[in-house]
Order: sequence, then C-alpha cells, then structure tokens
Amino acid sequence: MGTTGVVVPAAGRGTRLGSRQNKIWVEIHGRSILGWTLAALDTHPEIDHIVVAGAPDELERLLLAAGCFPKLAGVVPGGNSRAESVRNGLRALPAGCELALVHDAARPAVSHALISRVLAEVRRSGAAVPALPVADTLKRGDSCGAIEATVARANLWAAQTPQGARLQLLLDACEELGDRIADCTDESSILEAVGTPVRLVEGEESNRKITRRSDIDAVAAVLGTNVNERGFHPAVCRTGFGYDVHALAADRPLWLGGVNIPHPFGLAGHSDADVVLHAVCDALLGAAGLGDIGLLFPDTDAANRGRPSIEFLTEVNRLLVAAGWSVVNVDVALLAEEPRIGPYRQRMVDAISGCLGIHGAQVNVKATTAERMGFVGRREGIACWAIATISGAS
Ligand code: MG
Repeated sequence: MGTTGVVVPAAGRGTRLGSRQNKIWVEIHGRSILGWTLAALDTHPEIDHIVVAGAPDELERLLLAAGCFPKLAGVVPGGNSRAESVRNGLRALPAGCELALVHDAARPAVSHALISRVLAEVRRSGAAVPALPVADTLKRGDSCGAIEATVARANLWAAQTPQGARLQLLLDACEELGDRIADCTDESSILEAVGTPVRLVEGEESNRKITRRSDIDAVAAVLGTNVNERGFHPAVCRTGFGYDVHALAADRPLWLGGVNIPHPFGLAGHSDADVVLHAVCDALLGAAGLGDIGLLFPDTDAANRGRPSIEFLTEVNRLLVAAGWSVVNVDVALLAEEPRIGPYRQRMVDAISGCLGIHGAQVNVKATTAERMGFVGRREGIACWAIATISGAS
C-alpha cells in the first residue's frame, strides 16, 4: 500500500485582504492561517506527508512555521503560477507516495470528514474534487459593469480543495501539459485538460477560502467552535522539563543522544542508558502531561533490557502525535567531564530531530564539564537536563 501526500501551495498574496504580506500569516485565535491548515492536515490519520510550496523569498519563514509538524516532508520553491507551484510540490513528495491531495493554505477550516471523503473517492475512481452547488444566480458582466447575460446555474459547482488524485495521474498530466500548465487554475483543470475524468464529492460551506476580511470572521467562528474535532485548542504551547543521571561503568558502550561514542566507559543502566534521550523523553512527556519514562518503560520489564533508547523516543513521539501535539523545540544541556562532546553534537541533533520528525534547527544540544567538581567532575557519572516546548493540543 502506497502512502498519501498533500501539497500545500502557499505563495498567495494578501491584496484583497488589504494586507501587504502573504495572507497565510494573518492570525486567527493566535495561530496563523497556515498553522491552522497544516494542523488539520497533519492530524489526519490517512495523510503521511506534507509538502509546502512557497514564494522563494519566504522559504525560511515557511520552514520555521511548518517544521514543527511531524509529517512535513519538505518546503519547496513555488513557480510563477499556482499550477507550477503544485507541480514542484508533487515532484517533492517522497518515493512510495501513491495518492496526492492539493489543499489551499488559505482554507484553514477544512474538516477531517471532508479530507476522508475526497480520499475515499480518489481510491474508488482515481480523482476527486469537493464542490458545492452554485446557489446564487450568475451574471456575466461587460467591461462597463452592465449585465451581458444571465448564466444558467444548473449543473454548476464551486470547486474547493483538497482536490485529490492518484499521484501518477497528476504527474503524467503535468508532463503532458508542459508550459500550458500555467493556465490551469486548480488541480482538476490539470486533469481535465488531458481528458482524465474527475468526480465531484460534496464540499463544505465552512471550508471557505480566505480571500476577504469577512472570510476571517466566518472561519474564526468555525475554528473556535469546532476545536474538538481537530483535537486541539487554538495556539496552546506547553513546556516540559527532564533530568537524568547515570553512573559511568567499564565494559559498557557509551550512548549519548542516540549516538554511539567510542570511549573506555559507558553508562550503567537497564536499557542502553542514554542519559540524553532519557532527559529528552521526560521533557516531552512532561510537556504533554503524559507521565515519565520510568512509568512507560519500567526497568522491571525484561523487554526493556538493553533496549536502544531511540525506541523510547520514537514511542514518546508517537504518543504526543496521537494526543495532537507537535514538537516546537528541544534544548539539551549535557554535563560530562569526558569524552569531548563537540565532534558528536551534530549527529545527536540529527538523531533526535530525525526521530521526532522535526527540522534540525528545532533541536539544540550543548555540553559542559563540571570543572572537576562533584560526581560528574570525579567522572563517576554523566547528567543531562532537557527542556521541550510543544504546541497544538488541548
Ligand atoms: Mg535514565
């Protein structure tokens, strides 16, 4: 079974909102429009990867905003048109991705039910678009503002996102259209242009695209009352603290921050005794109010004997994600008289951020000696403190 990825074109400008900046940065209930959109996608159980396609001059800001979502697979530069941005995003989805959704960054109130409905139709027929029947009478005007004609509204639908298709169908259509893709205003029109049938599924009134000021109030009302379905309250940030200490012992491998460091002494303990990962686990569990590492992985359980602590961190991250939390950052302070940590610092950052599915810039590891004082200074043990900030859940 292949995975499912979603591309979020996020290069829009806020001209109609009267704001000079990209409208995705406008805050609703203390969280950016983009943040709401990504949270809805990231917490959907059938979505595996998210790629954001943004304006080239905003990539760094996008990475900072999106990096805390565990499913983020990349932030890529968009093109000159929406369709070109989408094409760049589709090409950046990880290998093995079979189904693709494209969702406007400016539709933050998308519901999980709607995403599921689109994916079900994509599995059934290959391509689907959520839409609502047009309720207003439609007029075609001339350049002077006079009515030229009334357009029959029977069988007319207003298309929304997420639009979905088998990824290969979309990639093939992009390939076939080449430069003509710039004329396509949404993903279904890319497929229509090459004759691929696309099914309509029922959209949602609340899944409104933020274009004007009045849209913000309408969407804010939805996000404010509909928090339970999304599993979190607006813009909640929590902090947790972790501390651990292990004794140094001969004939043990030394594991610190998920990295095996060649050293005559290792740390004594039931698992691999990785004092850094234990402190990080406790900081994350503390922030989420989920207990501590001793509770989850008791040393009375033989199954935990000699276990790599990176597995503990993987499990802790899984619990956090299941509870609707995203890791914002982790900061580590390691206290060891020896060995020198500097040469291994980056690998620890990579191991921790890789395990948590976040960007390396969200993990910081620093180390100091104890100036020969106390148990650390006497080389009897190694101590570690960690602090973690998480966001999103209630
Ligand atoms: Mg420990």
